[in-house]
Amino acid sequence: MTVIADYIGRTARENVVNALLKARENEEFNAILSYSEERALERADKVDSGEITGRLAGVPFIAKDNFLTLGVTTSAASNFLKDFKAPLQATAIEKLEAEGAICIGKANLDAFAHGGSTENSAFGPTKNAFNQEHVAGGSSGGSAVVVALGIVPFALGSDTGGSIRQPASFNNVVGIKPTYGTVSRYGVVAMASSTDTIGVLASSIEDAELVMDIMSGQDTKDMTTLPDFFAPAQLEGPKKIGVIKEFMDEGVDSEVKAATEQYIEALKQKGHVVEEVSMSLLKYALAIYYIVVPAEISSNLGRYDGVRYGARAEAGTLGELYGLSRDQGFMQENKRRIMIGSYVLSSGFFDAYYLQAQKARTLLVDEFNTLFKTYDALIGPVAPTPAFKLGENTSDPVKMYLADIMTVPASLAGLPAISVPAGKSQNGLPIGVQLIGARKSDALLMALAKEVE
Ligand code: GLN
Repeated sequence: MTVIADYIGRTARENVVNALLKARENEEFNAILSYSEERALERADKVDSGEITGRLAGVPFIAKDNFLTLGVTTSAASNFLKDFKAPLQATAIEKLEAEGAICIGKANLDAFAHGGSTENSAFGPTKNAFNQEHVAGGSSGGSAVVVALGIVPFALGSDTGGSIRQPASFNNVVGIKPTYGTVSRYGVVAMASSTDTIGVLASSIEDAELVMDIMSGQDTKDMTTLPDFFAPAQLEGPKKIGVIKEFMDEGVDSEVKAATEQYIEALKQKGHVVEEVSMSLLKYALAIYYIVVPAEISSNLGRYDGVRYGARAEAGTLGELYGLSRDQGFMQENKRRIMIGSYVLSSGFFDAYYLQAQKARTLLVDEFNTLFKTYDALIGPVAPTPAFKLGENTSDPVKMYLADIMTVPASLAGLPAISVPAGKSQNGLPIGVQLIGARKSDALLMALAKEVE
């Protein structure tokens, strides 16, 4: 199934105008932070005149607002960067533009991508595409909603601990978090450098594959990128798939469990062998993540000091300038993470927290690697529940973090993991399942999902 093909059949101008119209009709969802109308129309005319060609010629898309993009602000949904005009574009955007795609605007997110509901945005929360009283998920909530509403056929997101997969599952779209290093992160606002990945949210696997194929590959501007290994594939013969027991145990919503079981049935019908597997270290993943990631955040956000980028507070001394700029520029969750990160990296606590977490992380990676000697892929839900209500978790950060329990393990291990629609709850909220694979098995995961789609 492909939605992108329909766009290729129309003029670029028609595509862009329609997408912008649809976006404006749906402003109540608060999914889009800014439009790059002028630049988009200019590029559309170049596509229609034949000056720009490519595999995505005239196809509109929206990027999460932590991708640097020309012609429009890049705010990372923060007060710090709310007026920031990037001097360059992210490599991922450049590659899509080189194939004729047209960025029409930027999607809402949790400020600096810290969160799982898009409620930490300085510009207000995005609402779920299926029920406006529920969260869109996050941090790429805006990207998921614009695809779910049919405004664009695909949107870009970043996934550090689940930020593509979880909002995708909450809004019934496909979400791809590739192997760490697949897509260049150059020009994307850094969150946690050892787990940050760039990926796509799309209406179908086939469309997601095309976008990944275009974006992936080595980039001299991002030392962590891998030589291009990604190519869409078909399955050869039945695969062996492990159901992660710990993800199906108590604590998981019964409808989420039932939807996952139904998906597993569909895999079996296709001839795949599905067995239960257990991972003894999964219970530590969330604790590891919420030590390692804040540590990297505290370091990456050090550059926002009111001097080099974005908003600068009125201040009398240099100390005040740093302090006040950060106080006004960051959201509460950003500050919380900077404080946790600085704490676990401080000299008295480094060994007890940061070092210990990194050691535990290595053991978790080993546990995954051992399983992938026997299994081609692992399966489980994306999140313990469907989209929760707006405001339900905002007063309790730990409760919010617990919603990330199923997505952070693959992030810590740098593994590809994809979220695919798997049905709806009785009250109409989407549910997604997650397929996790060995490093560089991205195409295999998508091939499996295509079979069931
Ligand atoms: N919800 C997770 C967090 O708050 C994931 C965020 C992300 O992947 N950017 O850290």
